Amino acid sequence: MEEKIDHMTYLSDMEIIQSEIMDNVINCRDNYDENKYTDADVKYALQKDVLASEDFAALLSPVALNYLEEIAKRAKAETNKHFGNSISMFTPLYISNYCENYCVYCGFNCKNKISRSCLNAEEIENEMKAIAKTGLQEILILTGESRHKSDVKYIGEACKIARKYFKVVGIEVYPMNTDEYAYLHQCGVDYVTVFQETYNSEKYETLHLKGHKRIFPYRFNTQERALMGGMRGVGLAALLGLDDFRKDAFATGMHGYLLQKKYPHAEISFSCPRLRPIINNERINPRDVHERQLLQVICAYRIFMPFASITISTREREGFRNNIIKIAATKISAGVKVDIGSHNVENNKVKGDGQFEISDGRGVDEVYNAILKSGLQPVMSDYIYV
Ligand code: SF4
Repeated sequence: MEEKIDHMTYLSDMEIIQSEIMDNVINCRDNYDENKYTDADVKYALQKDVLASEDFAALLSPVALNYLEEIAKRAKAETNKHFGNSISMFTPLYISNYCENYCVYCGFNCKNKISRSCLNAEEIENEMKAIAKTGLQEILILTGESRHKSDVKYIGEACKIARKYFKVVGIEVYPMNTDEYAYLHQCGVDYVTVFQETYNSEKYETLHLKGHKRIFPYRFNTQERALMGGMRGVGLAALLGLDDFRKDAFATGMHGYLLQKKYPHAEISFSCPRLRPIINNERINPRDVHERQLLQVICAYRIFMPFASITISTREREGFRNNIIKIAATKISAGVKVDIGSHNVENNKVKGDGQFEISDGRGVDEVYNAILKSGLQPVMSDYIYV
């Protein structure tokens, strides 16, 4: 039987940084007793101008579900105060689906027999041209996590191409060392998103069986290394449903909060993914995270971290997405295609399978018009180069 590597010990090629944030967050998560909060705690949190971590904890508790309307109202007020009525639009572009990790919940995992591919420079450019034609000015470049098939240079070249067509470039790829983030920043990357999946390190170990991703602390400290490498923004998330979602949402919020305290200039953004059905997934069952609970989590993030960007992805259905941008989310994807090479199908054939199914297949125009119809302002980019 294959011997598993210790999930808390860094591998030799992984940079170790001095940071107290991980221990703080794990401590907060371990001590979070979601059932101890009362109606009075929730009401107290809602009447405060600036929330402490205890108030955030109360808003995420089961009892707070009874106050969902009040919570949503407060979240909406915070969103309006800090973001006006603007909603940023972007699309993800998957350029490779090779992966060396074995995450039991993901269709890209190295044990799953799917069609794999990696777009070459010409194909990447074709995809980007097709996306740029839709009017989008922000792109998020994604790969599976394979340093061999999609090395740092390959990702850097993709980002240089992206820079020609887009004003804002994000990446969601495998965690790297600080010098590699500095290189990618030079190639044009503005922000880095990495999901911790679950902040319960013991559960994490049972879900990540193989590959670099198994090393919990290296993944945890990714956002700090990215900021140290010069990135202006970092995104984080737990994949809600892998473990106790309230504890994971609490840990995610605390992670963002402590990063913001330590790096006041950093643009912090939260994503709120829930598990989606994937190809050949029989190993785990999602915990119950229904839309009401998801709404509760997103609103709690908004009230606790009023300046943070919150992204709502196409994992969620159209109706939910249309509503959440009126309340708390500030960034929405559109024209999403998760298969590799599927934006410019006239020239490129679809080359590889997607990671998960999407629930909202609307094109850029449709999402743009839905935002306008809600009385909000779609924003393609608010970043101006001088
Ligand atoms: S979640 Fe990411 S790292 Fe894990 S198998 Fe899927 S693509 Fe690979």
